Amino acid sequence: MHESVIALGIVREIDKHVKSSGPPARIRVVLGELQNVDEVVLGEYMKMYLEEQGLREVDYVFEWEKARFRCSACGYEWSLDELGLTDSERETIHFLPEAIYAIVKCPKCGSRVYDVLSGRGVRIVIEEKER
Ligand SMILES: [Zn+2]
Repeated sequence: MHESVIALGIVREIDKHVKSSGPPARIRVVLGELQNVDEVVLGEYMKMYLEEQGLREVDYVFEWEKARFRCSACGYEWSLDELGLTDSERETIHFLPEAIYAIVKCPKCGSRVYDVLSGRGVRIVIEEKER
């Protein structure tokens, strides 16, 4: 369900850009590793909304952004890859991103107080056509 809301937000942003600056060369849709979003479903909604807006020709790609964390206690930075999580822990994080604070702790000092530096949310990067 929320893929449709995300897709609508993305398409509105693209539409605004096309109206003000013309069609972009390409759109990169950057999906955070901690964002519970189904790329296939999102793509279907985007296609539908782009067609509705008459933006069928807009070229876009999906990219996944890795999650990065920084410990508030010792300053260490890490990604999910170095934690050796089990598949079920990874799945839990994917479907319930709030669960990271129960599963993830600083690999250096064990603190559960840390900042999430990246890997959250969805954003778009607009690549302009060369003039
Ligand atoms: Zn630490």
